[in-house]
Amino acid sequence: MGTPHILDISNEKDMRTLITPSTPVDLEDRASVKVSCMQLVQALYTLIQKNHAKPAGLSAIQLGIPQQMFALHSHIKGKPVCLVFVNPELRIIGNDVADDWAGCFSIDFLRVRVPRPTKIRITANIFKVDGTTCASLGRQAWHMTDADALIVQHEVDHLKGVVTLDYVPATELRAFIATKGLWQDPQGHSVFNVPQAYRQQGRKTKMINEPLAQDQLDTLSSFLRLTWCRIPRPAFDPRRFFSNDVDYYL
Ligand SMILES: [Zn+2]
Repeated sequence: MGTPHILDISNEKDMRTLITPSTPVDLEDRASVKVSCMQLVQALYTLIQKNHAKPAGLSAIQLGIPQQMFALHSHIKGKPVCLVFVNPELRIIGNDVADDWAGCFSIDFLRVRVPRPTKIRITANIFKVDGTTCASLGRQAWHMTDADALIVQHEVDHLKGVVTLDYVPATELRAFIATKGLWQDPQGHSVFNVPQAYRQQGRKTKMINEPLAQDQLDTLSSFLRLTWCRIPRPAFDPRRFFSNDVDYYL
């Protein structure tokens, strides 16, 4: 299998798809569910090899399939495993939150700081993919912590049409664009670039700020233009812009 085509936020048509919520999977159609599971896992493996990214996840919408399913590459009892979660429901457990410097295969030029709960419970129809076999484990509720919990939340966001950029308040994103990507919040970095060196050498290279290229700035401006009034927009607070409670959501 060649390199899978992953939707890229830099392409405006892809961006429109990425911000669209996915629909539930029809589990009665078992054959096509299994085909989609295999497709997702193969694409994820290819991306992991290319990007040295592990653990990692990939949602169907990133392949242009607007269905509520995502793949997770993780470890269970030390062994690598690829699982696909279909029609997931997520519940946050406890109050612990960690800053996730979230990368995304669909937004490869930028990492975004996303504060996320570290403990979750995910209920989904789970499929285990191993080589050419895809076994249904039925509908189960699993508890997850740390990296797995952060990735699962990122992927469930994708199924709602939410991406990492949604967690940047519009005012910060505007300041970021105005300074060509060099703006920082008072605590240090709010949003930062992933220079080429980071991707080439894996996690050994320190991430530093570099000015964004014009096409990257244009991508962020398009995102703001397309998303500023859509639902859901977790970081978007209308009170920053309006003093009354006008319901202007579309
Ligand atoms: Zn992503």
